[in-house]
Amino acid sequence: MNIPISIPLDNDGFMRRECPNCLKQFKWHDGPANEDAEHQPSASAYYCPFCGQPAGLDQWWTTEQVEYTRGMAAPAAMQLMDDELSKAFRGLNSKHVKITKKGSFDKPAEPDPMVEPDDMIILASPCHAWEPIKVPADTQAPVHCLVCGQAFAF
Ligand SMILES: [Zn+2]
Ligand SMILES: [Zn+2]
Repeated sequence: MNIPISIPLDNDGFMRRECPNCLKQFKWHDGPANEDAEHQPSASAYYCPFCGQPAGLDQWWTTEQVEYTRGMAAPAAMQLMDDELSKAFRGLNSKHVKITKKGSFDKPAEPDPMVEPDDMIILASPCHAWEPIKVPADTQAPVHCLVCGQAFAF
């Protein structure tokens, strides 16, 4: 089953992320932020700007994104089950036996689309300036480079 779910970016093209280790939120740029970034090898892990711990690229979903994804998947899954069941019932029918399926599952409503506010400030590390991040405006230095984990002041 393939359900297209789009997580919104803010107006600068940044996606909200949550560290699986310290649970703090920041944003990273979705896709290459500039021409330099296009020529870099793609990372297999990123480092948290706050605690400096690395995690795989699919480990950074925020609680809201996970809930939204679940909320979008549930109605689609129900629809699929309903379709499959209808097909199964059709297959049972013969000249002598008539089986019909009445009604269908109550589909849960899809959640409202997510909105990404243009909050946080942009930071670029001195070592990997082509991979900028956004952190809350009250963040204290140092923070860690997303790409290599090196702490830097700003
Ligand atoms: Zn962290
Ligand atoms: Zn770096």
